[in-house]
Amino acid sequence: MVETSYIPKDLEEALRLRKETGAKPIAGGTDLMVAHRRGTGVVPKFPWPVMIVSQLAVFKGIRLEDGEVSIGAGCTCHEIEVSELVPWPVRMAASLMGAQSLRNLATIGGNVCNASPKADLPVPLLMLDARLELASVSGIRQISLNDFLVGPKKTALRDDELLMRVIIPAVNPAFTYLWYRKIGTRRANAISKLSLCAAITIDTEGMVTDFRSASGAAGPRIARNRMVEEMLIGIPITDIEERLPAFLDAYDGILAPQAMPEYRRSSTRRMLEHFLRTAVTRPAHGIIE
Ligand SMILES: Cc1cc2nc3c(=O)[nH]c(=O)nc-3n(C[C@H](O)[C@H](O)[C@H](O)COP(=O)(O)OP(=O)(O)OC[C@H]3O[C@@H](n4cnc5c(N)ncnc54)[C@H](O)[C@@H]3O)c2cc1C
Repeated sequence: MVETSYIPKDLEEALRLRKETGAKPIAGGTDLMVAHRRGTGVVPKFPWPVMIVSQLAVFKGIRLEDGEVSIGAGCTCHEIEVSELVPWPVRMAASLMGAQSLRNLATIGGNVCNASPKADLPVPLLMLDARLELASVSGIRQISLNDFLVGPKKTALRDDELLMRVIIPAVNPAFTYLWYRKIGTRRANAISKLSLCAAITIDTEGMVTDFRSASGAAGPRIARNRMVEEMLIGIPITDIEERLPAFLDAYDGILAPQAMPEYRRSSTRRMLEHFLRTAVTRPAHGIIE
C-alpha cells in the first residue's frame, strides 16, 4: 500500500508530480475518499501516490470566454448551482447532487473524471456538447466530453494529465424549451436512478430547428444519439405527435439499462412524451416542469 501524498504549490509542480510520480489528483475527495475508506475516523489508504489539488487557484473560476462558459475543474457543485453564467440544466443538476455539505466539496472535475454512468453533471454537459481542456507537461489539448467518457469509470485522461476546465459552447439561437429531471430514492443524498436532460428549439414559423436529449443511469454510458434526435428536427412542431411513437421507439433503442430495465425504459418514455407534448401546446418559452 502506497501512502505518499503531495500538496503541490502551483500547476507547474502538479503537472511535474503527475508525470514523475503518477500521483492521482484528489479534489473534493467525495468519490476517492469513500472508495478507499477503511472505517470511521481512520485515514483512507490509496494504492497509488495522491496529490491534493483543491487549493490550486488555477482550477477555480467560472467565466464567459468568447461566448462560451468556462468552468474550472475545481469548481464545486455549490459554486456552479449559484452561478448565473452556467446554463440552467447544469445548475439544476448541480443543485440536486447529494446534500449541501457534499455540494460544498464535490467538484465538476471529480464528477466528470470519476466517469460513473450515474454521475449527474455529465448528462446536461453532454447535451450541451461540452468540451474538456486537459493539461500535461507537454501542453494543452481539448477533447469533447463524448470522446472523453470512454465507458463506466473509464476516461481518455492520460496518466500525465489533469483536467483544467469544462467548456460549454454557446447555443444560438437559444433553446425554446428545456427540461431536466433526476429520479432518485430521496430528494437529497440520492444517486440518480435515472436522469433526463432535453431541449428543443422552435423558430418563429413553428419549425423544430434543434432537439437534443441525454439520459443518465440508463446504461453503461450516458445515452445520446444525434441520428435519433434528428428524427424530430426540420419538422413543424405540430407534427411531433404523429412522429412521437417512432421517435420513442428509436430512443428506447439507445438505452441499455441493466437493472430495472422496464422501469427505466418506461420512465424515460413518459418524460420525453411529457416534454415534447408540453412543447407543442405551451405558448410561452422557458423551462418545462
Ligand atoms: C453522500 C454522497 C452523495 C453523492 N451524491 C451524488 C449525486 O447526487 N450525484 C452525483 O453525480 N454524484 C454524487 N456523489 C459522488 C461524488 O460526490 C461526485 O462524483 C463528485 O462530483 C466528485 O467530485 P470530487 O471533487 O469529490 O472528486 P474526487 O473524489 O476528488 O475525485 C474523483 C475522481 O476524479 C479525479 N479528478 C478530480 N479532479 C481532477 C482533475 N482536475 N484532473 C483529473 N482528474 C481529477 C480523481 O483523481 C478521481 O479519480 C455522491 C457522493 C457521496 C459520498
